[in-house]
Amino acid sequence: MKVVIVGAGPAGLYAAVLLRRKWPDIDVQVFEQNPADATFGFGVVFSHEALAFLYEDDPDTHDLITGHMQRWHDIEIVHRGQKITIDGVGFSAIGRLHLLQLLQQRALDMGVLPKYGCRIDTLEAFDDADLIIGADGLSSVVRASDRSGFGESLGTMSNRFAWFAASRPYDALTQSFVESDLGRFNAHHYRYSDTASTFIVECDNATWQAAGFDGLSEDDSRTCCEKIFAETLDGAGLIGNKSLWRQFPRLHNANWFSGNKVLVGDALHTCHFSIGSGTRLALEDVIALVRSLDEHGLGLAQALPAYERARRPVVEKLVAAADRSASWYEGFAGHMDLDPWLFAHAYIQRTGRISTERLERIAPGFTASLASRGLLPQSD
Ligand SMILES: Cc1cc2nc3c(=O)[nH]c(=O)nc-3n(C[C@H](O)[C@H](O)[C@H](O)COP(=O)(O)OP(=O)(O)OC[C@H]3O[C@@H](n4cnc5c(N)ncnc54)[C@H](O)[C@@H]3O)c2cc1C
Repeated sequence: MKVVIVGAGPAGLYAAVLLRRKWPDIDVQVFEQNPADATFGFGVVFSHEALAFLYEDDPDTHDLITGHMQRWHDIEIVHRGQKITIDGVGFSAIGRLHLLQLLQQRALDMGVLPKYGCRIDTLEAFDDADLIIGADGLSSVVRASDRSGFGESLGTMSNRFAWFAASRPYDALTQSFVESDLGRFNAHHYRYSDTASTFIVECDNATWQAAGFDGLSEDDSRTCCEKIFAETLDGAGLIGNKSLWRQFPRLHNANWFSGNKVLVGDALHTCHFSIGSGTRLALEDVIALVRSLDEHGLGLAQALPAYERARRPVVEKLVAAADRSASWYEGFAGHMDLDPWLFAHAYIQRTGRISTERLERIAPGFTASLASRGLLPQSD
């Protein structure tokens, strides 16, 4: 069997690893447009719960990755200069490039060396492939080869964001909300190494326009964000890596496969970064696809529909939570009218998945503080 994988991001590399782990003789070819050491963005975060799936399926990869992760247990919300701790949630983070390097090593151990610097523009050269896996992210050429077959629907959120790093570590996953001369801004920041943190700056579209960001160079825009978040950065600087302002895409596909082509990860769906689950979904998609191929003896006619049937409900549930979270962020400037404790409570409730009872269980310190202020709603 010959499998072509387009894209060597987390999904593509992990697909190569799992396919070769299961079928050592299968012909697996991976094509990546960028060099091996290139990437966008900085660190990515996983909830501890999210890493459990990896342990169950692939303890070797789990142990390899978690050995290099930063870990912490709290979320901190900073609003009107007050820091409120939401205890007990539990996260781990790793630099995106570091994660890719570890997966590259795993792929190499399985005998797969991706062809780097090799952009695929059409799928014509792969007529002899039995299976083509589109692991090529949002601008997927595999999806573009048959947009109507996949039933693609693509839109964008309204807010603007830019993904930087800060040259300092933070204690926990922190959401800093600031009121500046240029308007209301948010930064999502957390450490991914001993010396650096992801630092994503977000604001609504009207604020972004009024602040004149559309006329600024990447460098001037970075300097401007350093000024807005001077107190949060506390002497550290922001580092850019293609840190252009973007609007978060919302991608949905009516069909997950078309003929012998199948989509995984960001080529298939997007999941707003505010719940930090896009990479987890990408890895889980691959686990589900390979499991389905195994259960159906590599018979694509059964395996691809079974992959979609099994996986779609799980993905849709998480993406719906991500959409609710993204909608909360779209209105964060308005929510900032709330007092810091009510604001922190609104933040943790934003996906609609955490009942008061569950919150009491996972964040006893935070709920006790809310209760002592008479701010804890009754259990449903
Ligand atoms: C601001 C921000 C913060 C995020 N934070 C988190 C987080 O904390 N935790 C988390 O889990 N997720 C996070 N994500 C989401 C995460 O980055 C993605 O979900 C994840 O990278 C998806 O992996 P992928 O392999 O499917 O796609 P990608 O990572 O996009 O990889 C696709 C690969 O395909 C290659 N490619 C594309 N087209 C071609 C072509 N034509 N030919 C050859 N190669 C091609 C690309 O170069 C790329 O290497 C965040 C995303 C954003 C935007």
